[in-house]
Amino acid sequence: MTRTYPWHAESWRIAQSALARGAHALLIAGAPGLAKADFARALAASHLCVSRDTHGHACGVCESCHWLSAGTHPDFAVVEPPPDDDEGGRRGGAASAVRKKAIGVDQIRGLSDLLGITAHRDAGKVIIVQPADALNPAASNALLKSLEEPPPGIVFLLVSDRPALLLATVRSRCQSVPIHLRDSAMASRWLKEQGMERPELGLALSGGAPLEAIAIATNPVWARRPELLRELVVNATDPIRMAEVFRDLAPAQALSWLQKLTYDLVFVRLCSRVRYNVDLSGEIERLASRLDPIRLTRLHRRYVSLQRIANHPLNARLFLEQMFIEFSRMREGDASMDGTK
Ligand SMILES: [Zn+2]
Repeated sequence: MTRTYPWHAESWRIAQSALARGAHALLIAGAPGLAKADFARALAASHLCVSRDTHGHACGVCESCHWLSAGTHPDFAVVEPPPDDDEGGRRGGAASAVRKKAIGVDQIRGLSDLLGITAHRDAGKVIIVQPADALNPAASNALLKSLEEPPPGIVFLLVSDRPALLLATVRSRCQSVPIHLRDSAMASRWLKEQGMERPELGLALSGGAPLEAIAIATNPVWARRPELLRELVVNATDPIRMAEVFRDLAPAQALSWLQKLTYDLVFVRLCSRVRYNVDLSGEIERLASRLDPIRLTRLHRRYVSLQRIANHPLNARLFLEQMFIEFSRMREGDASMDGTK
């Protein structure tokens, strides 16, 4: 089964009209959590289907649709980074912090059979590359050759959160299909239909990504966020005790909450509103008014710089302690903080 979401409607029209005009490569780009991979798959199904509906959606019952859902379609391929067997990379729980492997040149060369032979059906062939920003330089160049002289009947769908990382020559040969969340009220309505109780909070915490909002709402770890923030913001709990109370929390998860908290503390000073932790706006505003903005900004940068080691700290407990100690020092206006990067 393939599906699209309410916020895909405009992009769907753009993609369909590009394909109808004979485009052979689309770059589907937008922020994480907007189901771009589902969009690409639905578009592939649509292109390969022999009896699309009036909006261009795949019928779900023809031979091509069956092949696709069974994973046996001879005219379809997905190119992705090889599975990550590094367990440490998955521990953090903060998906954005996990460094993905690259797509190698052999994976692009491995498409030569699909690129060379005639399609099994008149509908042509579809190759999805996701995330396209994971292509390594050799793989990008190999793909570029096919984009420059596309074999007849083939459509490439490149999917990316960070299209700026693609080779400019690759980007320029793709028709752009941006995916945005233009209307957050629409996303809120949709989240409510999915049974989410506080969709606005979910959208704020996820930075406006509905699927991420659902992941947050259904992940029990996130139930600890308000408690952790209250201890820091309202109770100014001793950092060593904090590390004891939250010892089971993955350091990368705690760090991502601290980053958003310090972001909010800075943001509320500048823009008089909280961006992420909207359920604690009042508490965050009150604390922010008492803090030194320079020291606050410095601590926020410091947390961002810790990102690269948060998935593999030498000692998780000490890492948590250190993060909480630095928050506490910033709060108290401890001058020894000023030496930190
Ligand atoms: Zn079909």
